[in-house]
Amino acid sequence: MRKIVIAIDGFSSNGKSTMAKSLAKEIGYIYIDSGAMYRAVTLYCIQHDLFDGDKLNESALHNEIQNIKIEFHLNKDTGMPETYLNGVNVESVIRSMEVSSKVSQVSAVAFVRRAMVALQQEMGKAKGIVMDGRDIGTVVFPEAELKVFVTADAEIRAQRRFDELRSKGDAKTTFDEVLENLKSRDYMDQTREESPLVKADDAILLDNSYMTIDEQMQWLLNKFKQITTN
Ligand code: C5P
Repeated sequence: MRKIVIAIDGFSSNGKSTMAKSLAKEIGYIYIDSGAMYRAVTLYCIQHDLFDGDKLNESALHNEIQNIKIEFHLNKDTGMPETYLNGVNVESVIRSMEVSSKVSQVSAVAFVRRAMVALQQEMGKAKGIVMDGRDIGTVVFPEAELKVFVTADAEIRAQRRFDELRSKGDAKTTFDEVLENLKSRDYMDQTREESPLVKADDAILLDNSYMTIDEQMQWLLNKFKQITTN
């Protein structure tokens, strides 16, 4: 069966990663979480004091960008790729609220995007890949054979993210903080100059507000089969 590129874009915390991961596992494709790459760069900036208070020091980051090495390695127990920053597994720490609150500033910087997009394109060269993010169908892989744009009600997304943080042991962050962070990230991602979050003309819209993970998987699997068997 011919291998294709699957691009899954959409708003923050709408379950697209869960869906993309399950699909990749089911069809034997590589899964890449492009958001994790921007989160890893943000973590690097926090660890190296590249924020003056809340504001990113872009020129300091410019001097450091070549020192940031991001890789994905498969976790043999879960069968899922995990994010490494300069050789250290950061899969869990990049999901913290501190990183979430700063990542949209970092991902709006043109030279950061150029570096990440180049890396993503390299990872997808051989096809057989499912990548999720904000600009995968528009900028990274405009020729992707299957493009999906995922959306869901903001409160439902915030509830999902809140439940996830609680289940990971974060007892501090409130629901309102999660909702605020999500809305501000949506706003910044949609209004930035560099590759704003926008649905590609040829992407299929999926509103998953009231769908179970299984239903989303079936929906996606059907789209994949329609394309690869034609
Ligand atoms: O997908 P996730 O919510 O983990 O992404 C974190 C942030 O990374 C987004 O809010 C967005 O600012 C940025 N991002 C991006 N382009 C992508 C993926 C993520 O700008 N392809």
